[in-house]
Amino acid sequence: KFFYDSDADLSAIRNKKVAFVGYGNQGCAQALNLRDSGFDNIVVGNIDDEYKPRAIADGFRTVSISEAVSEAEVIFLLIPDEDQQQVWKDQIRDHLLPNATLVVASGYAVAFDLLELPETLDVVMVAPRMIGAGVRDRYVAKEPYPCFVSVERNPSGKALQTAIDLACAIGATRGRGAVESSCLEEAGIDLFAEQALWPAINTCFLQAFQVLKGAGFSDEAILFDMYLSKEPSEVFERASNVGFFKQLKFHSKTSQFGQLRGTKNSDGTALKAQFEKVLHKDILSGEFAKYWSNSLAGGATELEQLWKDVEQEPIQIAENNLGLQK
Ligand code: NDP
Repeated sequence: KFFYDSDADLSAIRNKKVAFVGYGNQGCAQALNLRDSGFDNIVVGNIDDEYKPRAIADGFRTVSISEAVSEAEVIFLLIPDEDQQQVWKDQIRDHLLPNATLVVASGYAVAFDLLELPETLDVVMVAPRMIGAGVRDRYVAKEPYPCFVSVERNPSGKALQTAIDLACAIGATRGRGAVESSCLEEAGIDLFAEQALWPAINTCFLQAFQVLKGAGFSDEAILFDMYLSKEPSEVFERASNVGFFKQLKFHSKTSQFGQLRGTKNSDGTALKAQFEKVLHKDILSGEFAKYWSNSLAGGATELEQLWKDVEQEPIQIAENNLGLQK
């Protein structure tokens, strides 16, 4: 289902007190869009960081996060996903007005129950599929951009209308409209790409490098052919325009034949089983979210170790020898 500008009515919601928690990529873009849509009661809640002067320079009143939240009827939670649990617990949860609406731009924290949500709180997702600069530029240019919208908690009975109105106010219901989704769907697909799809692709590149190097080919020739030439980014660019396989038509007949035959002859059974496991056992069960929260609470040392490990990969060493930027 899609929601369009014509489904929105900004007349009442414009007067609500709105708090932006975080003024980074999304916070800055969405706050400016909302203000240009006629919302004149916006406060930015931020830690005293490099973003604060930017919010002030953009003409917003800035206060502490707990102060911003304590006066807000609508709260945009736009800090990084991995910080939301702690900030919610320490600076937001106990300061909320009853009957406020929480707006998230990513499903992660809500889908995996990382926030203790009071029963009277409406919770909606308005999640642009676009970096903050794009959200702002397209709003100004009156161009559409993709966005997911969902209702997660609805004690007021009005959460869907609120979500559509806010999506409209940030410019996300233009053109093809905003897509109805859910926090679990948005976060599930996102995490699947991060934990199944891309690791599989990463593994392909690691192994391909080793096999080609084992055949005596030079580091520079392999790396240039595999990705330094930017060929993969061109392939994906074309795939997004004409289709995943149809972009093959831009390649030589030899390449088309090799790719289609090679794909047909590849046994994806083990990969599919691995994908199923990651999706169901790790992601949708909430196990990953729990594991990552614990790791973050312990200082994310495992992430540091993973970085150290990948530095030892032959492909990484070859890049270093070629003098690629660190
Ligand atoms: P940013 O990394 O740009 O940071 C957002 C803000 O949060 C900054 O002001 C940052 O300040 C502040 N912040 C960071 N850590 C803390 C903390 N511990 N306590 C208080 N404030 C903190 O985030 P994004 O705008 O990229 O992401 C915000 C949300 O939007 C996330 O849920 C994300 O998943 C979602 N989203 C992001 C998209 C993107 O393209 N970036 C696209 C769609 C959705 P500082 O860094 O100075 O500490």
